[in-house]
Amino acid sequence: MTFWQTQLGPCTEKDIPVDSGDQRLIGEIFCPECDNILARLHDRAEGVGLTSWMRGSSVANPQSLIVGFAFFSLVTAAEPADDEAADLVCWRGHGDLRITGADCRAVIDRYRGRGRKIRHPATRVPHSDGEPSVP
Ligand SMILES: [Zn+2]
Repeated sequence: MTFWQTQLGPCTEKDIPVDSGDQRLIGEIFCPECDNILARLHDRAEGVGLTSWMRGSSVANPQSLIVGFAFFSLVTAAEPADDEAADLVCWRGHGDLRITGADCRAVIDRYRGRGRKIRHPATRVPHSDGEPSVP
């Protein structure tokens, strides 16, 4: 399976709930370069959901609302697999970042232990000759 189970959109960032109703924000995945939040983990009725919002740029009309796509995955004990990774792109131009299923579960475990929101840096993907290291 692929890391992301659902793609939503197109939508703007305002359409993505941050912390409301039946879902509590328990973790944030941030860019190690600039602290920008790249993905969020929410405690929901059906489990922990991971949401990432990918910006779609509009060069023609930079003043318009920025439209992108939201990606969602439910994190369970088994999925996504520990070594399954999702590529993340920072809106400020920092690329080659990712998180894995193991990262998500580590955040959840730390949240359960501490009872408050966890901040976790995305992992830099090592570059080799410009070739993506993930098939
Ligand atoms: Zn960044």
